[in-house]
Amino acid sequence: METNEAHVARMKALQAKQRRKSAAARNPGRGLVLVYTGNGKGKSSSAFGVIARALGWGRKVGVVQFIKGNWTTGERRFFAKFPDQVDWYTMGEGFTWDTQDRDRDVAAAETAFARALAMLTGGGYDLVVLDEINIALRYEYLSGRTVLDGLVARSERTSVILTGRDASSEICEYADLVSEMREVKHPFAAGIKAQRGIDF
Ligand code: ATP
Ligand code: MG
Repeated sequence: METNEAHVARMKALQAKQRRKSAAARNPGRGLVLVYTGNGKGKSSSAFGVIARALGWGRKVGVVQFIKGNWTTGERRFFAKFPDQVDWYTMGEGFTWDTQDRDRDVAAAETAFARALAMLTGGGYDLVVLDEINIALRYEYLSGRTVLDGLVARSERTSVILTGRDASSEICEYADLVSEMREVKHPFAAGIKAQRGIDF
């Protein structure tokens, strides 16, 4: 077993290393780009968690939801309590497999992205969440080039979170942070339906 003396020495070395690292770390001078992707649950809810943090610091947040439409969610209801700090736009038309009309989906995605672009470039937001935009990209409702150009053109002030399965390699390459949710277990596999307050 390690003696206390050895433990202290090891911890001191670790502490010195951590301090050197934080001293060398810099501020980026502009907002970050974060991607939450993967098949496991937790992508959108992580983004909503970051929104709560930003609101705690009095920041201004924009949300544009792609794909999911006319479905009341707990997050929508909750963030509606902060009308001065949060602007929320949900693309209409419900789920893609409900609409079954590609032209309408493309038009809805383009309208939603126009809203997103105004938020990204306008300089009025500290955080913009593009929920499920990776899905709109995967279905080619939006072009990767258009979205990447929008990210590049964002105001220095603005951080961006992109969520959804199958994030493109171009977006991941450009992002500062990419987290992949890995499904270990999900109640859906056991036949349990989506739960209010947990899933939506
Ligand atoms: P959440 O919004 O709960 O963080 P998510 O954004 O990671 O989930 P989405 O792909 O957007 O996941 O799916 C949205 C809905 O599908 C949620 O109700 C979620 O619980 C459910 N879901 C997520 N992952 C899975 C999975 N692996 N199997 C079945 N249902 C899932
Ligand atoms: Mg999601």
